[in-house]
Amino acid sequence: MTEIKYNEPMRNHTSFKIGGPVSEMWFPKSDTELQDTLALLHNRGVSPLVIGRGTNLLVSDSPLDIVVVKTYPELAKTEVRGNEIYARSGAALSAIAALARDNSLTGFEFAHGIPGSLGGAIFMNAGAYGGDMAGVTAHVYAFDSGGELLGFTNEQCGFSYRHSVFSVTGDVILAAKIQLERGDADEIAAKMRDLAERRRESQPLDLPGAGSAFKRPKNGFAAQMIDEAGLRGYRVGDAAVSDKHAGFIVNLGGATCDDVLRVIEHVRSEVFKRFGVELEPEIRMIK
Ligand SMILES: Cc1cc2nc3c(=O)[nH]c(=O)nc-3n(C[C@H](O)[C@H](O)[C@H](O)COP(=O)(O)OP(=O)(O)OC[C@H]3O[C@@H](n4cnc5c(N)ncnc54)[C@H](O)[C@@H]3O)c2cc1C
Repeated sequence: MTEIKYNEPMRNHTSFKIGGPVSEMWFPKSDTELQDTLALLHNRGVSPLVIGRGTNLLVSDSPLDIVVVKTYPELAKTEVRGNEIYARSGAALSAIAALARDNSLTGFEFAHGIPGSLGGAIFMNAGAYGGDMAGVTAHVYAFDSGGELLGFTNEQCGFSYRHSVFSVTGDVILAAKIQLERGDADEIAAKMRDLAERRRESQPLDLPGAGSAFKRPKNGFAAQMIDEAGLRGYRVGDAAVSDKHAGFIVNLGGATCDDVLRVIEHVRSEVFKRFGVELEPEIRMIK
């Protein structure tokens, strides 16, 4: 039986540590449980919000009358077949990267430090240090809203910068086939260590947040513009532009959703005044 929690606070499921209670949260543990959950909700006329590790979400503090289906950490089976890794959507990217390294498979090192799940990463086409999910995803298996299984080739995923077709269709990602290449386990491990060190040096990993707050604009870098607009450290309540990386907004303790939204709006308006650039939030808002 799929576990369900009622009036579950979203702050317990987001890396921002922000978010009020949602009416129901379901925790499917297998392909069948996910399929049955979706079919059941569909019959009730409910479109759930499917989440992984909640590392790209800003959720309202007010109670939300929505149903959340959470894939992480239960729906996380992984399997290596030759140069491919088959993983369920709730698998952590760090776990898939470690599995790739242990099997001398290269190509997934970029994702090791991204704190999300496979499903969230495919949905967002997450990327870092020159790699992205579009570059390694060979096939995606997803359920439509009624629980029918669909298959997507890489081209059918419609990947572009921090975007995939799944943000348009609302299909629920069940699993994916990750295509990698043979490599040297020591070199792979060294690259992962190097990237982790670069993250530790440049990102506020000790504070709750949701990664880069804004997408990269066409010309230039969001963090640089925010910095040059003098907004490093800009604070509303307990939400602030990080002192360490101006592209990150962090929760200094008791930040509310509204605090974060006000920081976002101020940053957007100041950057627009100074550079004429409209920054687009990368964080997904659930209000
Ligand atoms: C410290 C830090 C560093 C970060 N660094 C990076 C980085 O370098 N690069 C980068 O791209 N991102 C980065 N992020 C953002 C985030 O980790 C990624 O976007 C990640 O891929 C989100 O995965 P998730 O499982 O947390 O998704 P969630 O936050 O749970 O969800 C994100 C979106 O995906 C959807 N979704 C989740 N699972 C499914 C599913 N199974 N089927 C359909 N839709 C689904 C959700 O509905 C939501 O719209 C960082 C975040 C933090 C906190």
